Amino acid sequence: MVKLEPEIWSAEVVYLGFGTPMLRGGLLVVGEHVAMAGGLEELRRAYPDAPIRSKGKALTPPVVNAHAHLDLSRLPYFRGRYIDFIRHVIAHGSARGVEAARQGLEELQRLSVGAFGDIVARGEVMDWLLEESGLPGVAYYEVIGPDPSKADDIFEAIKPRLLAWKKREGRVRVGISPHAPHTVSAPLLQKTAEFARLEGFPVQIHVAESPDEREYLERAKGSFVEFNQQMKIPVWEPPGVSPIRYLADLGVLGPGVTVVHGVQVDEGDVQILAQAGCWVVSCPRSNEGLECGEFPWALYLKHGVEVALGTDSRGSSPDLNVKNEALHLWGKVDPRVLVRAATRSGYRVLGLETPRITRGTHLSQVESW
Ligand SMILES: [Zn+2]
Repeated sequence: MVKLEPEIWSAEVVYLGFGTPMLRGGLLVVGEHVAMAGGLEELRRAYPDAPIRSKGKALTPPVVNAHAHLDLSRLPYFRGRYIDFIRHVIAHGSARGVEAARQGLEELQRLSVGAFGDIVARGEVMDWLLEESGLPGVAYYEVIGPDPSKADDIFEAIKPRLLAWKKREGRVRVGISPHAPHTVSAPLLQKTAEFARLEGFPVQIHVAESPDEREYLERAKGSFVEFNQQMKIPVWEPPGVSPIRYLADLGVLGPGVTVVHGVQVDEGDVQILAQAGCWVVSCPRSNEGLECGEFPWALYLKHGVEVALGTDSRGSSPDLNVKNEALHLWGKVDPRVLVRAATRSGYRVLGLETPRITRGTHLSQVESW
């Protein structure tokens, strides 16, 4: 019998999936399994002969990409103003579909992601994910409809589809994504939110992403005005409040609702999200590339809001690697906050248990960054 020599794995941050991430932590590894976890000094004292292997920035459970658009994986990468990105997505509409989603899911699998949240714009992609996905997650069906006179028709058309998909849930669960406050009319936002609450669908909404969105809702000015004219979207009387306040006033926010982006917020907005029990997904590289600003981590931490990480689509992110989102902010934001966002918060947003690293955990379930 071969005797396996123990070794100590260390990294800048070691996070076991529970408790506080450790700054000077380590794992005692024997063969292909974790034998012990704890402080590096403690492990060194207990196993003075074990060699120490530096495993880079972090050791964690498998990471979660909590917000992607897999069916946009064939969209050429774009940098520039948010409103021009929307034009870019519309112009490449034919690149969207099952093949692109397959490409995106394969990328997530290659990256050993533990779970994913995906915005699904087409029914065939939802069918495909429910049948074929080898990864657990939530597929949020996207709802768009800025014209309030069409709210009833749109809602009545999607309701039976969502209920039918829900019956086919397995590894992947079904959610709803009213796209954004400026692309979904108030009555349609309220109907979908109420339906989601009653039927138990998780929700993701893009909110407070670009400065232009805030300007449009607060003052009916900026690039969205011209865009809506071009798209022949009916003139809308904006609410005159921030995007978060607007959704709160409509009764859309609450537990089970995840706000994606949440960049253009003030402290009052973050307090609203904390009180409503909402979660947030931040997509740092997309926000930077689309000139949307910087996510106010300190404000969210102050109010105890759970923040997960996502990449957004390949259209606004160079890859679907959520570790790269965290590494992009490494040092600027406390790395302990980032590793938790990339793991535990992601599992929470998707309604999944966070895998724990304990005695006996196989190394395939330990992610080194
Ligand atoms: Zn998105």
